[in-house]
Amino acid sequence: FHLAASVGVKNIMKNPIYSISNNLNTSEKIFRFASEFKKRVIFTSSSEVYGLSSRILDENARLNLGNPKIIRWNYASTKITDEYLAMSYFKEKNLKITVVRLFNTVGKGQSKQYGMVIPRFYFQAIKNKPITVYGNGKQSRTFTYVKDVVHSLLKISLSTKSYGQVINVGGANKTTIISLAKKIKKITNSKSKIKFIPLKKVYGDGFEDCKQRIPSVKKLKKIIKYRPSTKLNTILKEIKE
Ligand code: UDP
Repeated sequence: FHLAASVGVKNIMKNPIYSISNNLNTSEKIFRFASEFKKRVIFTSSSEVYGLSSRILDENARLNLGNPKIIRWNYASTKITDEYLAMSYFKEKNLKITVVRLFNTVGKGQSKQYGMVIPRFYFQAIKNKPITVYGNGKQSRTFTYVKDVVHSLLKISLSTKSYGQVINVGGANKTTIISLAKKIKKITNSKSKIKFIPLKKVYGDGFEDCKQRIPSVKKLKKIIKYRPSTKLNTILKEIKE
C-alpha cells in the first residue's frame, strides 16, 4: 500500500519544490521495485486530480487542472503523473497495480499541521479561537471516514478485477465548509466566532479553491460490493472522543 506523500494545501504551498520531487521520486522507486520483485501495489491518488471539474466525478471524467503559476496544482500534477506511471507499469511490465482516488479522508489523529480543515476547526473550536472559514464557506467537500477507506483498500487489494484500474473511494455526505464549521462549533460546545477569511489573504492572489467534489462510487461498488457510508455526524463525534 503506497500511501506516503507530501500532502495538504498549506504544506504544498510552503514546500513546492520538495513536494514535487518527493511525490514523483518515491512512487517511481516503489513501482520499479514492486515490478522487479513482482509485488502487488495499491497506489493512493487523490480527488485533487479532477481539478476544478465540479460535476459528479467518475473515473473517466476529463481532468481540469489549473495553471502552473498557481502552486496549489503542484500536488494534483504529481498525483496524476504517478497515475500515468502506474498505468504504464501495468501495461509494459504487467505490474499488479490499482490506483485509488481518495476524497478528503478524515479521522481521529489527523494532523492540523498541513492545513486540513477538520483538525484545524476542532483545534480552533476547543480553544475558543475564531473558526477560520476560507472564502464564503459555500464550497463543499465529501469527507470519507478513514476506517471506511482502510476497509475499501483491503477489499480492493484482494480483487484481481482491480488490476490496472483507477477507482474512486469517497464517502456519501457532502457538506459545505460553513456548515462544517457550525457543526464542529456545536459538537464542541464552543464559544468561537466563525470568521470568514478571503482566500487571497491566506494563499495570495490567484489562488483557486475547488467549489465541490462529489465522487461517483459506481465502479467501487461493482468491484468490491461496498462503499464508504459512515455519516458525517458520526465521524465528527468519533473524532471528538
Ligand atoms: N478550509 C477552510 N478553513 C481552514 C482550512 C480549510 O475554510 O482553516 C477550506 C478549504 O479552503 C477547502 C476546504 O476547507 O475549501 C477543505 O480544505 P482541506 O485543506 O481540508 O482539503 P482540500 O482543499 O484538499 O479539499
